[in-house]
Amino acid sequence: IARRPNYRRILLKLSGEALMGEQGYGVDVKVARSVAEEIKAVHDAGVEVAIVVGGGNIFRGVSASAQDMDRASADYIGMLATVMNAVVLQDALEKLGVYTRVMSAIDIPQVAEPFIRRRAIRHLEKGRVVIFAAGTGNPYFTTDSAAALRALEIKADVILKATKVEGIYSADPAKDETAELYDRISYQEVLEQQLKIMDASAISLCMDNNLPIIVFNMKTPGNIVRVIMGEPGVGTQVS
Ligand code: UDP
Repeated sequence: IARRPNYRRILLKLSGEALMGEQGYGVDVKVARSVAEEIKAVHDAGVEVAIVVGGGNIFRGVSASAQDMDRASADYIGMLATVMNAVVLQDALEKLGVYTRVMSAIDIPQVAEPFIRRRAIRHLEKGRVVIFAAGTGNPYFTTDSAAALRALEIKADVILKATKVEGIYSADPAKDETAELYDRISYQEVLEQQLKIMDASAISLCMDNNLPIIVFNMKTPGNIVRVIMGEPGVGTQVS
């Protein structure tokens, strides 16, 4: 019997690093392709997919402001970096035959559609993968906050936060052998323990609106499909 996915509409948060590969900076086109294959599998399962992509593989506002750049200017560059990643992802998905739209929070009409909430929803209903670029469009925010905001706006059932680890642990698994992977954890615990999975403003926004987050390892092939199918033991749910 074919299993049905647990979700109708998801918002996938990909950090810029997810497109970077081993090179330490920028974009690895081969990595982008494998990320696109993972996303296609979710789309093929009949789930509506929206994506918020980060920009940390190219530019991070806080790091530049630490080197004495004006924070707001640096953040705008960071947002533009996310637009580049969004177009990379769009290209990779369309090479696989998946229709996509990039919607930007900063108007760049030659490159991307402007973000219009109702239009984004329409694209999703028509089976297009929507990639949200330029974060929230505001400095002093992150793409994690953009993910929470957009997920609420489009009424996504869940945020899937792609990371390089299996989920949320009781301690840093790289340093502590006894670290346990949580199956579930509350927003409050994430905030109180200052677990660095998403910034606090993104977590609070999800908490205030009861939007669940699943933190999972995107590096393991097939994991994202396991998450949408609700396979036990994959990732940690924050709710
Ligand atoms: N950014 C911003 N406002 C937003 C989203 C992003 O100013 O709403 C800037 C910020 O400088 C950030 C950069 O864009 O450092 C890249 O985004 P982020 O660090 O969230 O990317 P990720 O860590 O997910 O790759």
